[in-house]
Amino acid sequence: MTGRAAVPLADGVWRIPTSVGDLVNAVAFRDADGTVTLVDPGLRVRFARRKLWAGLRAIGVAPADVRRVVVTHAHVDHAGGLAALVRQSGAEVLAHEREAVYLRDGRTPRMQRGRPRSFPSVIVGEEFLDGSVLPGGLRVVHTPGHTPGHVSLLHEPTGVLVTGDALFNVRGIRYSPGWMCTDPELNRKSADTLGELDFEVVAFMHGPEVRQGARAAVRAFLRGRER
Ligand SMILES: [Zn+2]
Repeated sequence: MTGRAAVPLADGVWRIPTSVGDLVNAVAFRDADGTVTLVDPGLRVRFARRKLWAGLRAIGVAPADVRRVVVTHAHVDHAGGLAALVRQSGAEVLAHEREAVYLRDGRTPRMQRGRPRSFPSVIVGEEFLDGSVLPGGLRVVHTPGHTPGHVSLLHEPTGVLVTGDALFNVRGIRYSPGWMCTDPELNRKSADTLGELDFEVVAFMHGPEVRQGARAAVRAFLRGRER
C-alpha cells in the first residue's frame, strides 16, 4: 500500500490520488445536500479510473452522487478521464469560458514545448468566470498562464485552496514547469496572486497538500521568487 484511497483535507473535502503516490490528484467536495463536486478526474487510463472510483467508494460516494465535475484546465492528466467519468456518473461539466473550447474539441491548449494532445471531448454544461461561486461554495480564481482558462478554486466553507497547476508541490512548492505552459510568465503572475487569498489548507493536483501553515508556506515560496 502506498497510501490511502482518499486523503481528508477538511470536513467533506478529500484528495484522491489517481496515479502513483501523490503525483496526480483529484479533489472531491461533498456538499451539504450529499451531492459531490469533483475537481479534475485525471488521466484517461484504466489505472487512473480505478483509483478515482476506489477513492470515491472509500468516502461513501456512489457514481450518481457525483453531480458536477470542475476542470481546472484541459490537459490530459486533468481532463483525459473526463468523458468516462461523465458517462459513468451523469455529472455536469463546468469550466472557465476560455477553457471550455478545448474540452469541447478534445485538445490541449498550446504549450511552450510539445504539440497539442487530444483526449475524448465532452459537452460543457456550464461556463464560469473569475469570481463565480459554484454550488457548495467553490469560488473560481482565474489563474491564466498555464493555459488560457486555467483556474484555481477556493472552497469558502472550509478554506481549502485547490491550486490547479498554477503551483505544484513536487519536491517542494514551485511554479509549474514553463514548457508545459501556454504563457509561463503569466502563470507566475497568476500564481503570485494565490498568496493574497485567505485559505487554511492548500491542495495541489501534483503533490501532497499542506495542512499546517499552508498560507505561510505558499507565501514563503512566492516571496523567495520575487525579483
Ligand atoms: Zn497542466
